[in-house]
Parts: sequence; structure tokens; C-alpha cells
Amino acid sequence: MTASSLAPFTAADYRVRMARAARAASDAGLAGLLVAPGPDLVWLTGYAPPAATERLTLLVLTPGHDPVLVVPALEAPDAAKASGAPALTLCDWTDGKDPYALTAELLGPTGTFVVSDNAWAMHLLNLQKALPGTSYASFTDALPMLRAVKDGQELELLAAAGAAADAAFEEIRTVRFTGRRESEIAAYLADLLRRFGHSQVDFTIVASGPNGADPHHEAGDRVIEHGDMVVLDFGGLRDGYGSDTSRTVHVGEPTDEERRVHDLVRRAQEAGFRAVRPGAACQEVDRAARAVIEDAGYGEYFIHRTGHGIGVTTHEPPYMIEGEEQPLVPGMCFSVEPGVYLPGRFGVRIEDIVTVTEDGGRRLNGTTREMVIVD
Ligand code: ZN
Ligand code: ZN
Ligand code: ZN
Repeated sequence: MTASSLAPFTAADYRVRMARAARAASDAGLAGLLVAPGPDLVWLTGYAPPAATERLTLLVLTPGHDPVLVVPALEAPDAAKASGAPALTLCDWTDGKDPYALTAELLGPTGTFVVSDNAWAMHLLNLQKALPGTSYASFTDALPMLRAVKDGQELELLAAAGAAADAAFEEIRTVRFTGRRESEIAAYLADLLRRFGHSQVDFTIVASGPNGADPHHEAGDRVIEHGDMVVLDFGGLRDGYGSDTSRTVHVGEPTDEERRVHDLVRRAQEAGFRAVRPGAACQEVDRAARAVIEDAGYGEYFIHRTGHGIGVTTHEPPYMIEGEEQPLVPGMCFSVEPGVYLPGRFGVRIEDIVTVTEDGGRRLNGTTREMVIVD
């Protein structure tokens, strides 16, 4: 994640988020939050340190105290430039000093602290050694709603990212597919995402013919032929917020079976979308989409969950999956993306980002979900 892929928020916005996080932790009976570099830190402070930093960098949020960012001295000048920096106290440490002892002083000897899911085990183990009286809970388990429920400004950014991905699809459907490698179409899709404002492209899946039966097939050398189904699934970050959409196109006239399977997935996607309303459990979205595919006899070919959350990353909790009882709340944003994958033959996936409204759901993608025929 580069600085230019960060969202346009102010120190005041980040101050509000950090206060909300500390309050949520204390409401849950927790002693505070320890936030490692990654999406939680970006969301709370706007700070994204270099990816390969093994030195301890940790935001410490404890109820009733000002936020403190423990940061290696050599990174401190960059940290001070982050949009959220004015809302923080920087506490820097130099090589040769013990950053865990420093952090331990900020935490106190006991209590359960929330830790970002992606914090390095090495850092957590060293903190445990420094503070044997403390315990730790995962961010997602302890505070599942904190990043999952988006505010109005975040929703606007997600909608803009969705519209940009849609614009990329409208463009790609006009190009010639026959005789071109998947990788060429993928490269063009990435160009289009950037042209429409993305600063980061996370994936451009182009899965033609039998490759479409592999949901995570990356674009490769296969030359696309007349008669192929082609699964397109692409997204990234625009102004710090994610896009992720899939459409399945056909090169030339499809067979009856191809039409039938595409229509089945379209109806499953519609059913998943219709299940979105406040109070419904995440798993109900999965069940609604899956039921359509199972009733048609294709249940064994729908081999993944129905959806995942999206925000400052393109894949995050909550998950639309059997067993996830988390109720939907207005402002949550996630994908609804059922698929059918017929091994050795073809696949179909249709994916929209959806947000929960007061009385249902709203799609953040608007391109046609009918099968598009390409050349
Ligand atoms: Zn075909
Ligand atoms: Zn996708
Ligand atoms: Zn997705």
C-alpha cells in the first residue's frame, strides 16, 4: 500500500475513529487495542509504514489516554507526515533499545488487549514475555463491527471505486477477445482500472474456457477462442477504498447449457442480494444464493463462500458463509458472488459489492448481470 493509495481523511476524522475504537474496547470489557501495520492502522491513522518493517510499530489505544504510536526512530519522520499524526503521540525507539519494555509501560501489567489480526507473532510473543499478566484477543473476534460498518464518507468512496470498476468493464467488453492471451486482457483491465482512478490493482482474473472452472485462476498464456466463457474478476483500491466485481462474458454465441448456467448464477446472485437486510445473519445471504444453485442440481459445483467484506482492503471480514451468525448492520459492505465451476469445461461467477441500507441492500456495481457477448 503506497501513500497515494490512502483515503482523503483529516486528523479530526482519525481522532474520531481512534476514540470510537478505544470506547468499543472498553465497552467490551477490554483494556485497549494494539494495532500493527496493515489495514487496521491505515483505517485508524492513515499511516502505512513500509511493508518490510520487522521493527516494532504499534498503535496503542487505551481508554482514557491519548493514542500513542510506538515507532522505530528511523520511521518517525514518515509517520509524522501521516494524516492522522496530529491526533497521535509518537513514541520512538532506536535500535539497541527494547521496544517491548517501552510498550509494556504504556499498557500496564494486566488486562486483555485487542490485537490486529495481522500482527506479527514475534511481536506478540515478546509482549507476552514482557507482560505475563496480560492476555490478547483478535480484532475480528473482539470488535467485528468496528471497521465493518462504514460511515457516509466511506460509502461514497466505495461507491466511487465500484463505479470505476464498472467503467473498466464497459470498456473491456468492447475489445476483441478471440485470439488474444488471457494475460493481454488482464493487462488491459489493469490499465483501465488505473485510468479510472485506481492507484492500486489487486487482481485481474481472466479465466477462459476450462480455466474458468478454477475460481482463483490468474490470467495466463491461454489464447482465448471463439466459443469460450470468460470469467473476469478484478479490483483494487481507489482513494484508499476497494473495488471488486466479476462478470462472465461469452465469446460469440453461447450454447443452451452455457446460457442456462449463466442464468442460474445470475438468479443466485439476485437471491443473495435480496436476502440483504438489517438483522439478517451473514449466513442467510450465503444460504439464499446457494439454495438457488442447489435446487438446480449444481450445488457441488459452487465451491466457495458467497461473499466477503470490503473497505480499506479488497477482502476482509465479515464473510457471507455458513456458520457466520453476525447480523447485518446498515453501512456494512461486502460482495455477493456465487459461482458455478464445471471442471474441465467452464465457470461462471457474477459479483457485485452490496451495502446494507435501512430496509435492504444497495448495489455498488451497476453493469448488466445478463450475459454479455464479446467478439
Ligand atoms: Zn461457449
Ligand atoms: Zn472478485
Ligand atoms: Zn470478491
